[in-house]
Formats: sequence, structure tokens, C-alpha cells
Amino acid sequence: MASAIQLVDPSGVVRAWMCGTCFHVGAAGTYLGKNADERIASASKMRAESCCVCTSCGKSRPREGRVSFLECAECAEKRRLAEEAERAAKMLTHDQCAECEGDGTDLDYEDCTACGGSGWVAKNGGAK
Ligand SMILES: [Zn+2]
Ligand SMILES: [Zn+2]
Ligand SMILES: [Zn+2]
Repeated sequence: MASAIQLVDPSGVVRAWMCGTCFHVGAAGTYLGKNADERIASASKMRAESCCVCTSCGKSRPREGRVSFLECAECAEKRRLAEEAERAAKMLTHDQCAECEGDGTDLDYEDCTACGGSGWVAKNGGAK
């Protein structure tokens, strides 16, 4: 895992940190500059250290071409497969709700009354 790189001003004070992989400066939504005290700098460091790191496996994830904003391609793919498997398993016992087309919400963005917001109705055994 690439570590963060500190950005030091000419007087030797650490003002900010940047990601050691893509060199993005971890600003954390804070204005960095003369007011970058220790607290702001350490927030910047945390941001820079987690910049190119996958939130699932902690491995560094290349910024370019990644599928998910927070995860590496490997974890994003794993999640996609898991979701697909879960969906396939669910379809054995459930049907997608026809009322909301599996959305779980009605036209007013409230829980669909036909499926209770899950997007699924049990096969051969619903209220209808
Ligand atoms: Zn980065
Ligand atoms: Zn990962
Ligand atoms: Zn529904």
C-alpha cells in the first residue's frame, strides 16, 4: 500500500498530504493553505492515506478504470456476483413484485403496498 506523501512549506511545516499512488491531495473538503494547522493537516493525511485504498479489502486500488468509487475492481466484481447469486436464490421462492416492478417504491416514492417495499412477493402464497 502506497503511503501518503507530506507536503511541507518552506519553513518546514506540514500543510497537507497527498496520496502516494495517484498524487491527489487529500483536502477533505477543507481549505488548505495558511490556516492548515495540525488538525487540518492530519485530516488531510487520513484522506490521502485512504485515497487509493479499497474500503473492502484494504488493498490499494488503481484509480483508473475502477468499477466502484470506493472498492477495487476485484471487490466490486465480488459484490456484483454476490448480489446476482442472492437475486437468483430469491427468485426460486419469490416473484418480482408486479406493482412496482421490483423497485420497492410506488409512484410517490413510498414503500410499495403490494410487496411492503421489498420488491418481491412470495410465490403462490401472497395476499392476492
Ligand atoms: Zn489516490
Ligand atoms: Zn478490494
Ligand atoms: Zn412492490
